[in-house]
Amino acid sequence: MGLAGLRIVLVEPAGPINLGSIARVMKNFGLHHLVLVNPQCDPLSAEAVKMAVHAKEILESAVLVTTLPEALQGCVRAIATTARVRDWETPLENPRTALPWLLEDPDTPAALIFGREDRGLSNEELNYAQRFVRIPTHQSYSSLNLATAVAICCYELAQYAAPPITPAPSGTELAPLDLVETYYEQLESLLLDIGYLYPHTAASRMEKFRQLYNRAHLQTKEVAMLRGILRQIEWALKTKGNDENL
Ligand code: SAH
Repeated sequence: MGLAGLRIVLVEPAGPINLGSIARVMKNFGLHHLVLVNPQCDPLSAEAVKMAVHAKEILESAVLVTTLPEALQGCVRAIATTARVRDWETPLENPRTALPWLLEDPDTPAALIFGREDRGLSNEELNYAQRFVRIPTHQSYSSLNLATAVAICCYELAQYAAPPITPAPSGTELAPLDLVETYYEQLESLLLDIGYLYPHTAASRMEKFRQLYNRAHLQTKEVAMLRGILRQIEWALKTKGNDENL
């Protein structure tokens, strides 16, 4: 079930533009299950369909019900969203920390509930959920557009559900520290040989090099390349020295 099965429940949505935008952003982030509680507009109106663009099927398959309990039928976990900091016993949580809870048990249906554009959710409606989320906003204006609130939540859910970013191809992993250490030793000895470093300044200069390389998060391949350069310089110096001795 997971993300694709998660229900986005909208209570009495009134704006077709919002509905279309919500369908689109749901599809953008891999959600498909839209439930409308007593919608105040036609989810297949021209405006809604236009805003949905390539997500018309989400509007077409939206389930229409008359009450919130009907929308939540079969659900085990439900989170309600609210813009308002109310006189409310249960804490309002940050979506990033609370929303993953909806996906914790992929076999149990879960719902994320949004309120009306003008009045949000009543306390009675909020009470159908076990947890409450408020998207942190600037204190001067905490009420987001409904479709924007849905978009932020879908994004957060999708980041949690996303498979780890493509693994780095082999050789691009961070270089083991002892390999980097060998490089520093090689570099120091070469820089002493060519007179760039003096024994009394070597330690502090090498510290600067270490800081520079640390910032670069060297990969194994890159250390191999740097060591290759040093080896080539050593070889060139030796060859040149031998030529001069001829
Ligand atoms: N005046 C209403 C605003 C409703 S906005 C109120 O104070 O509740 C419509 C819906 O968008 C809300 O019911 C909620 O589901 C969602 N929403 C808007 N801003 C939000 C925010 N900052 N955090 C979480 N949900 C928000």
